Amino acid sequence: MKIQTRIAIQFSLIVGSLLAVFSFVIYQLFAEFREQEYYERLKSKAITTAHLLIKVDEIDRDLLKIIDKNTLTALVDEKVLVFDQHNKLFYSSLDDHVIHYGNELLNRVRKEKYVETSDDENEAVGLLYELNGQHYVILASAYDQFGRSKMANLRDILYTGLVFGILITVLLGVFFAGNALGPVNQFISQISSITANNLRERLDERKEKDEIGKLAAAFNKMMYRLEQSFELQRSFVSHASHELRTPLAALKSEVEISLDEKLTVAQHRGILQNIRKDVDRLIFLSNSLLQIVRPLKSSINSAAEVRIDDVIFQAQDELLLSKPDYRISVEYAQEPDNEKHISVFGDEPLLKTVFANLISNACKYSPNHQALIVIDFNETHTLVSIVDEGIGIPSEDLNVIFEPFYRSKNALAISGFGVGLSVCKRIVELHKGKIHVESRLQQGSKFTIELPNIS
Ligand code: ADP
Repeated sequence: MKIQTRIAIQFSLIVGSLLAVFSFVIYQLFAEFREQEYYERLKSKAITTAHLLIKVDEIDRDLLKIIDKNTLTALVDEKVLVFDQHNKLFYSSLDDHVIHYGNELLNRVRKEKYVETSDDENEAVGLLYELNGQHYVILASAYDQFGRSKMANLRDILYTGLVFGILITVLLGVFFAGNALGPVNQFISQISSITANNLRERLDERKEKDEIGKLAAAFNKMMYRLEQSFELQRSFVSHASHELRTPLAALKSEVEISLDEKLTVAQHRGILQNIRKDVDRLIFLSNSLLQIVRPLKSSINSAAEVRIDDVIFQAQDELLLSKPDYRISVEYAQEPDNEKHISVFGDEPLLKTVFANLISNACKYSPNHQALIVIDFNETHTLVSIVDEGIGIPSEDLNVIFEPFYRSKNALAISGFGVGLSVCKRIVELHKGKIHVESRLQQGSKFTIELPNIS
């Protein structure tokens, strides 16, 4: 069922039930009021009759009957009966109307002194009248024609009001629900037209900052993030294919040269060495690409407690094996009296990749090939800084060097693929850590890694 219909039905049911309860209460209160008022009139009629008949000597029963008959204010179907103390009928106002009574009712009146009763048509009161030790029972009954016709009128008005009220509520419910949900329908048609080719499309953000306005703003933000990540993927694929094409093209021409030309053994050897270099580049590149795109969860399956300084020393040793001219020194900013301060829960080979990359960069981008590693900690984190005095990073690049394949202009003369830092960032984030960089052109760079320790 459409939300619009559901809101309209719920709204109508609520207002309809309220109207019905309200009408019912009004009708009941009015019915009670009419009945009470009528009993009061019957009571005063009964008292007047008893007074005239019993107390005023000049008025006898026949005269009273004539008075009753000719009273203009007489009630419809009015009848008054007076009984003496033996329950014998002593006076009856009119002869053609009937009051249904019996000894039971008369005895009840004697006991309770005042009784109100009604059948389907007439209301009646009975009261005990006492004079000079004599106890008379007076029964007065009549039909409240005027009050009952007012009741019927009121019932008709309330019924009509209720039907019209519900009808108007349904119409208003449909109108307001349609009005409130109109923008949502508009969003739905706008959203259905968005595909991967037009991710720049945005929803119309309304001026009002209501829920619908917030929904549109949140959707637009999500679209922006989607667009960014699509853009990133596109540039990643184009960079990756470009980086792969260069060594592949070199490989092809080297193979062609060795096939076509009549070369000496030494020349063949030289070409094969070049081919090996290109294949190494390709292996390195494809490994890096795998690390970038591999789902993060599966990589940290083999997590264990790892001492960060151990990992740094291992990375240093491995690096020095292939680059003996690099100068790498390691320092502790403060003595770690508890090894937990410099231990993290993580994947050792992945963490080694991070430090090897950063130390290698520090040496590679510094004319003196020197790097200083400072190990520090606080209550919650182990902190490692890799400092160099190299070429530095342009300030406008500081935000983007962690993107895959991004390389600063001042680094292009030095060999590299631009994937190392993005791999580092992914691994550090996988360990719930942070990586950031401070740098000044021609003065040097400082990469800092914060990893939650196990203390
Ligand atoms: P690569 O070093 O292979 O180019 P990275 O992802 O490791 O790839 O680095 C990306 C870019 O960041 C580098 O091309 C370089 O411009 C810049 N960079 C990284 N580390 C340093 C550093 N220590 N000093 C100066 N520039 C750096």
